[in-house]
Amino acid sequence: MIDPRRDLPSVNALLESTGVRALLEQHPRRVVLEAVRSAVDAARSQGGAQKTEQQWVASIASAVQSLSRPSLRRVINATGVVLHTNLGRAPLAESAVEAMTHIAAGFSNLEYDLETGARGSRNSHCVGLLQQLTGAEDALVVNNCAAALVLTLNALAQKKEVLVSRGELVEIGGSFRIPDIMASGGAKLVEVGTTNRTNDDDYRRAITPKTAAIVKVHRSNFAIEGFTSDVSVDRLAFIAAEHGLPVIHDLGSGLMIPLDEYGLTGEPTASMALESGASLVLMSGDKLLGGPQAGIILGAANLIAKLRKNPLARAMRVDKLTLSALEATLRLYLEPARALKEIPILAMLTAPVTEIESRAESVAAKLRAAGIELKVVESSASVGGGAFPTAAIPSRAIALLRNPEDAERKLRLGELAVIGRISEGNLLLDLRSVLPREDGLLADAITKLRHD
Ligand SMILES: *Cc1c(COP(=O)(O)O)cnc(C)c1O
Repeated sequence: MIDPRRDLPSVNALLESTGVRALLEQHPRRVVLEAVRSAVDAARSQGGAQKTEQQWVASIASAVQSLSRPSLRRVINATGVVLHTNLGRAPLAESAVEAMTHIAAGFSNLEYDLETGARGSRNSHCVGLLQQLTGAEDALVVNNCAAALVLTLNALAQKKEVLVSRGELVEIGGSFRIPDIMASGGAKLVEVGTTNRTNDDDYRRAITPKTAAIVKVHRSNFAIEGFTSDVSVDRLAFIAAEHGLPVIHDLGSGLMIPLDEYGLTGEPTASMALESGASLVLMSGDKLLGGPQAGIILGAANLIAKLRKNPLARAMRVDKLTLSALEATLRLYLEPARALKEIPILAMLTAPVTEIESRAESVAAKLRAAGIELKVVESSASVGGGAFPTAAIPSRAIALLRNPEDAERKLRLGELAVIGRISEGNLLLDLRSVLPREDGLLADAITKLRHD
């Protein structure tokens, strides 16, 4: 029995109590034990405040709950940044989730040729769809776009020189700096031109017998304006061809269908990038393509063959789960209208603002009914993930007017975390980046603010 008059009960006494015994029936012993210890430690650090048995059990139960929560959890992205790298970039289409679950739960022909009954290649999956959708001669899927760049340079330019414009020596966020990546591929970087201007002759003058390739990096997360010029991929292809060199285009975003009619212009699609004459185009699977994390390399079959043979290709190979989700996502692009509807990223980016507004209003109505003070306000969402860096997509947000910092923290730490943004003293929850089927959960999470 726990004596509330004693300052701190022993761990053993707590473990014997009825409430904690009930927890032991539902949770691993080591978790409960850790929870008991942390509850005792917490009480000690608060100066040994006296508690009843019931209070002890409640604090242990809450410690068990927080110890049992997975580290990687779902959150609601109400930031208005649709492709948020910190929030896991693209959510998968339902068909991709189904394909992944199906493949995850059993064996598969990942590296087995069902026709011949012999060993097959992991590299055979997704290739046909990528060729069909982009017009590429061949394709290779690796872990992410950074890996694609390292592999490409290692296979084609190790110990040789690679030309890059100074205007493209960019950092793509989170320790991804183009010069570092290129160096880790074993290539020597030769910078050409200046930050704002690079022309044909800058490249021509830099070509030596040691040059192995010209790299074009898509300026994905910023725009340079003013007195600028750069050399387009088709011009680079022309210059490179004079010397028999490949042009490697690090495209990043992985846009598969044009989004001009939705006001998103200026980002080339994968097939446009190939048509411009790049020998290889590299892109991410989880940006505008809307699939799993992956690096997709498209282009000349003779070059891709070299990449496949490179030892790094083994180190950067993708898992069956990635391939299954990517294949299902690519399949949706066979019908572009379906892709726009079913790939969550594309649906979010192309939804008419009237639709976002009516969702915001219906969430707002629920909240008002629960006595929460708010306004529905105009907001400006962005693509994120290093694509269409200057695009401002009209959107609507729920603005919580009371204690924005406190509300932001509570929503972030709640059972289902909601991530918003503070703007001009209000907490804004932008509906454009929220999955429509999570509107109800969003409303519930905000309603809970009232009760604590
Ligand atoms: C995002 C991006 C990358 C990195 O892609 P990951 O798939 O995150 O490795 C590389 N290059 C460009 C141009 C990008 O926009």
